[in-house]
Amino acid sequence: MKAIENAPFLVEMIRTTTNMYAHGWDERNGGNISLLLNEAEVKKYLDITKVIRTIPTGFAAPELEGKIFLVTGTGKYFKNVQYAPDVNLGIVRLTCGGTQAELLWGFSDGGKFTSEFPAHMMSHVARLAVDPENRVVMHCHPANLLAMTYVHDLDEKAFTRTLWQMCTECIVVFPDGVNVLPWMLCGTNEIGEATAKKMETARLVVWSQHGIYGAGKDLDETFGLIETAEKAAEIYMKIAHLPLVNTITDDQMHLLEQRFNVKAREGYLS
Ligand SMILES: [Zn+2]
Repeated sequence: MKAIENAPFLVEMIRTTTNMYAHGWDERNGGNISLLLNEAEVKKYLDITKVIRTIPTGFAAPELEGKIFLVTGTGKYFKNVQYAPDVNLGIVRLTCGGTQAELLWGFSDGGKFTSEFPAHMMSHVARLAVDPENRVVMHCHPANLLAMTYVHDLDEKAFTRTLWQMCTECIVVFPDGVNVLPWMLCGTNEIGEATAKKMETARLVVWSQHGIYGAGKDLDETFGLIETAEKAAEIYMKIAHLPLVNTITDDQMHLLEQRFNVKAREGYLS
């Protein structure tokens, strides 16, 4: 058995949470990440027949039966993950139709997974149906995206078009756009179901006055997705109060589609 401290999935998770904290996206215990692991890979580092304890999830997700996730802990601070990964992170396997999670490693102070576990697992189900390579769901509180939900129309097409217009690379990085939820109570199955529904058509879902959810095939890609949207929101917040003289036109967006072989969300460009 190899030492889990050297497992690439754990090293990458520690680097990502540390980096997100450094970006100011995860104040206090803000933010959470879940990473779908490959069972054969986990077996190199853990005896997966040894269950430390079983934790009820409070929801059902039969599509994820037997799947193993590395996930951040509830009440835990991203800034502390690098110093005590086994306290702040856990590896769990979903069983009993997703109603139970078997702890295989971590949460060594008796803790458990993030309170947003329902939103994460339901989002994994939705994204895996679209893309079997999707392994990551990431949530955080980037200041400019959050600020934008106070001053911009929350209509998804309008919100997406504004972000696309703020940096040339946006339409290339998230051609599927950004979906938007109104303010909802977090930590509930209801916001989990609503987020998953939105994840069927886009990899980014904004939680108004709260933060954002991103999904992708690995931690780097998902981080980059949120990073790009946040950069666009930052530009918007810098210029929203100024007279707009120039923009990226729809004709120019079509040129980007052709050059980078992407297809903008249906009906979002004229
Ligand atoms: Zn949050």
